[in-house]
Amino acid sequence: MNIPFVNEPFTPFAVQANQEAFEDALRQVEAELGQEYPIIIGGQKITSSRTLTSVNPAAKNQVVGTIHQADRELAEKAIQTAAETFHTWKHTDPNERARYLYKAAAIMRRRKHEFSAWMVYEAGKTWPEADADTAEAIDFMEFYARDMQRLSEPQPLVRIAGEDNELSYIPLGVGVVIPPWNFPLAIMAGMTSAALVSGNTVVLKPASTTPVIAAKFMELLAEVGLPDGVVNFLPGPGSEVGDYLVDHALTRFISFTGSRDVGLRINERAARTAPGQKWIKRVIAEMGGKDSIVVDSDSDLELAAESITASAFGFSGQKCSACSRAIIHKDVYDEVLQKVIERTQKLTMGSPLEVGSQVGPVIDDKAYAKITEYIEIGKGEGRLVHGGGTGNVEGYFIEPTIIADVDPKARIAQDEIFGPVLAFIKAESFQDALDIANNTDYGLTGAVISRNREHLEQARREYFAGNLYFNRKCTGALVGTHPFGGFNMSGTDSKAGGRDYLLLFTQAKLVSEKY
Ligand code: NAD
Repeated sequence: MNIPFVNEPFTPFAVQANQEAFEDALRQVEAELGQEYPIIIGGQKITSSRTLTSVNPAAKNQVVGTIHQADRELAEKAIQTAAETFHTWKHTDPNERARYLYKAAAIMRRRKHEFSAWMVYEAGKTWPEADADTAEAIDFMEFYARDMQRLSEPQPLVRIAGEDNELSYIPLGVGVVIPPWNFPLAIMAGMTSAALVSGNTVVLKPASTTPVIAAKFMELLAEVGLPDGVVNFLPGPGSEVGDYLVDHALTRFISFTGSRDVGLRINERAARTAPGQKWIKRVIAEMGGKDSIVVDSDSDLELAAESITASAFGFSGQKCSACSRAIIHKDVYDEVLQKVIERTQKLTMGSPLEVGSQVGPVIDDKAYAKITEYIEIGKGEGRLVHGGGTGNVEGYFIEPTIIADVDPKARIAQDEIFGPVLAFIKAESFQDALDIANNTDYGLTGAVISRNREHLEQARREYFAGNLYFNRKCTGALVGTHPFGGFNMSGTDSKAGGRDYLLLFTQAKLVSEKY
């Protein structure tokens, strides 16, 4: 592709025509709710006796779709099919592989609101959040396609006389792709696209709460003519088919994004060599976060409040990059807290089907139970200053909740809650604030709001996070602009959406010919 990569723009919903187009897409998707989606192996659509119902988290009784569930036998078939297909797919010209993604991106761009509308129904995303998710999915496909073309060009080597040397990036083999539900299109499509454009074949096990949007992506891959067996769609219980896929001797790599517990389990299991296995499995694991925004004494307090509110409560805090700890210098603590409360009071909670909804539901009953339990714990660990309640009982609504005066070691300051719960922590000095920011097991995102150049430089050196932002929110990484991934228990720092990412899906081969 000779057009340079640019990020897909977000839709301005203040424009009436865009609102109407999105409403049309919602109506279209509504008419398609409740359908059945098969398992797909080698292009063959397979139904099973076990199904799972995916529901709208804002209206629990509304069925988004019914998904056939695979068992171990079908997991075996999927791996065998992917292994078989790898023999041909690995020899496909990287430019051809890239073209499948360019075409998929073009179609998704044309039907952008339709994909977003599925996420409004299935993930409870507000319009702008769903729109950003689709834009990111388009970006991943465009970016990785270009990057594979770049990697397939002759690589720079030191030249010596009398020898021809060539280094090429060849694929690994069968990859098991296990995405989370919180970016049900972007992360799922990004992980799958990276694996396939690098010449690998894939068994895709979608997240159990958002399988329909993954099925829609499978339909798109079929529409662009991706050969059968390159991506095999295997919805099923994570613990059952997940373990089977991870343990399999023919699995060459696992690309996982999700919680710390599941990531560590996968890493441990993948380290065991199965009988007949000929390689060391590669694990790409992007996991949780407990991300902070540090506010310095000398800083723009409006900007601080805006950044904290947006990062804490966007998509109800269900982002790995979400700000769940506001660490504020004691000189400005009361003022920033007050400003964040005021902004949070103005957020409208309601069904994401409505254009004005800014806070939708959390994803399911388990998340609802876990978050409300943490709110109770938080009430004992600090001062509840906003929220704490729930919303419309038809869905899993939880109010944006702020707990002030929290100890940095408290549970709500250490555990990933993954919901709209924000802890305010007072710091004695900027150094103290940085120490608190670094005191978790994670290291995913972070932000510093400050006018003090020396402090920003100190944070640049000392703040231990994979994605560190200054004077802005800590969510909203853009493909190509902010390659994404974290340190410590946040994972393997894969830097999705960056130039290092495809190297994780390839191995470099050097051929040297003496003349
Ligand atoms: P999860 O770990 O519960 O599930 C992730 C995926 O793993 C799902 O597809 C699930 O079905 C599957 N799974 C469950 N058990 C398995 C097993 N034994 N073997 C194989 N697969 C199994 O996470 P989630 O609730 O879907 O997502 C939320 C988590 O993801 C949060 O912790 C969040 O921070 C993290 N996350 C991280 C990033 C990042 O880039 N670091 C991005 C998004 C989300």
